[in-house]
Amino acid sequence: MSNVVIIGGGHAGANIAFALRKDGFKGSIDIISNESFLPYHRPPLSKDFLKRNIEIEKLAFKSEDFYVDQDISVHLSTQVDSINKTSMKVKTKDSSFAFDYLVFATGASPRLFSMPNADAKNLFYLRQINDVLDIHKKLDSAKEIVLIGGGYIGLEVASAMIELGLKVTILESEDRILKRVTSPELSSFYDNFHQDKGVKILCNVEITQFIGDSSAITGVELESGERISTDIVLAGIGVVPNTDLAETMGLECDNGIKTDQFCRTSFPNILAAGDCTSSFNVLLNKSLRLESVPNALGQAKVVSSSIVGNDLFNSEIPWFWSDQYDLKLQMAGLSMGHDDSYILGDIESAEFLACYGKDGYLIAVDSVNQAKQFMLFKRALNNGYKLEMEQIKDKNFQPQSIFSSSN
Ligand code: NAP
Repeated sequence: MSNVVIIGGGHAGANIAFALRKDGFKGSIDIISNESFLPYHRPPLSKDFLKRNIEIEKLAFKSEDFYVDQDISVHLSTQVDSINKTSMKVKTKDSSFAFDYLVFATGASPRLFSMPNADAKNLFYLRQINDVLDIHKKLDSAKEIVLIGGGYIGLEVASAMIELGLKVTILESEDRILKRVTSPELSSFYDNFHQDKGVKILCNVEITQFIGDSSAITGVELESGERISTDIVLAGIGVVPNTDLAETMGLECDNGIKTDQFCRTSFPNILAAGDCTSSFNVLLNKSLRLESVPNALGQAKVVSSSIVGNDLFNSEIPWFWSDQYDLKLQMAGLSMGHDDSYILGDIESAEFLACYGKDGYLIAVDSVNQAKQFMLFKRALNNGYKLEMEQIKDKNFQPQSIFSSSN
């Protein structure tokens, strides 16, 4: 019987184990995780868990009993020291794990600041449960927070902090928030929405100094000379894929561990899934690295399929979601490079879809509080439907008609 060793206990790692058992895999499964908690849901960390609206126990995917029942061994607080690909063994400080299949699900880590006082006790990053527990300790006495980065972390945390009554400032180095993931129209909508809620957003800024000392930052100085006082600093300035181990053992990496559509790396019997990978997607006909839960879950199924000998491959349209205030943002497809866009619905009442086209056809859609219609567009994109932008712009167009016409 085969042994599967999975490095990483995040969304990808845990779901590979679940998928393997579902697919009937009978061999041993070891998950090696450097975290101290059983695999858990990450999305609430920047939302309800941060606001203390849900208990820590509710974050876990599964109870301890589940792992025992399914015969999945989870080794917590355990770091992989080395991998010998000839003897097919993974070494940790205290143990050695033989494998027939090795899976990298090592995820990504926050990009860190490296400037004086960046080691201060009130500068945080947000990726793991422990980060949020540390933030909680400072939150009770805090009145002001500076969020560095206007990406998903910055905006979701801003929404939570406004709800908790803090004075919030977002500092973004780009000329608009959410630039990495969406269009100027959506960035502008979110900028206005946050500012209306009381968030101060400064774009095109460069931080020149963390004022204070290594025990606490008391303010942030910008290149313009402006100083913003604060009790807490939280940086959400992007992530870097965890590829060190893979690189050390000679796996091909390029902004992530390279895999084919079956999540297989450049070495036989070694696979990879989730944020740490740059994988080939058949639907998009290109390799890409995606930082998202749906991608991790989809690739987990592909890895399992490859191990048990089925023929599933990466062919899903990338999709994302983000909850801020009472706004549900859902995105399907990649809008970069679009040459046309059209707002379907009412942007003023925060119920609309931004449709992005290229060469006359829809390539991506961002939806705000239009979940039902979003699902129709997502299904169409996933199935490779060629929806004409002109059809979407027609005043009589109804998304419900996508699957009832001759498309
Ligand atoms: P992000 O989405 O990459 O956004 C980070 C933003 O910070 C970017 O606009 C970045 O600009 C900017 N930035 C970088 N360095 C800066 C600096 N020195 N000063 C000011 N701004 C700076 O990353 P994130 O918000 O940190 O999120 C981290 C990861 O968690 C991502 O993978 C994200 O997808 C994931 N996440 C997802 C969700 C969700 O899907 N709802 C929620 C939370 C987190 P540049 O692009 O120019 O670097």
